[in-house]
Amino acid sequence: MEEYLPDIYQKSIYTIDYSKLLSRGIKCLLFDLDNTIVPPFSAEPPKKAKDLFIGLKQKGFKVIIFTNSPQIRLRGFKNYFGVDGVSSAHKPHTKKLKKLLQDYGYQVTEVAIIGDQLMTDIKVGNKVGITTVLVNPVSDSDFILTKIHRFKERKKMKKLRDNDLFWRGRYYD
Ligand SMILES: [Mg+2]
Repeated sequence: MEEYLPDIYQKSIYTIDYSKLLSRGIKCLLFDLDNTIVPPFSAEPPKKAKDLFIGLKQKGFKVIIFTNSPQIRLRGFKNYFGVDGVSSAHKPHTKKLKKLLQDYGYQVTEVAIIGDQLMTDIKVGNKVGITTVLVNPVSDSDFILTKIHRFKERKKMKKLRDNDLFWRGRYYD
């Protein structure tokens, strides 16, 4: 059950205390794309996110978009934001995340993953042992596969809630 429990839970990518992450030794931030940065059916990158990423890079973070979406969707966002990106990440499978850590040379203690889904973002992060940060989805719409994940996610959240581990809207870091 605890493989679905995020280390940190915040309203959005804009309310995370990044200085605290930095002080905990985090050097690299992996951002999910769909419903974490942008609604799933939108191709318009928010200026606000670009400003956030510029600030994070100035703080010394490496910023990488780590998405299950294909390269054709990732490319435009990556270029506009001026960050690195990994497409078709196959979360919650750990292969691409482990490869990323190896390629960039980070320890698990130095990386945090930030995303809106327990079944993909949080699960893969917890399996590999990096810091996991859950945020609320930015929209109500989801891709088909995500709809299936949401169904399972609701059950996981109920179980976490029954054990008093996680409550939607009760933020912590
Ligand atoms: Mg997502």
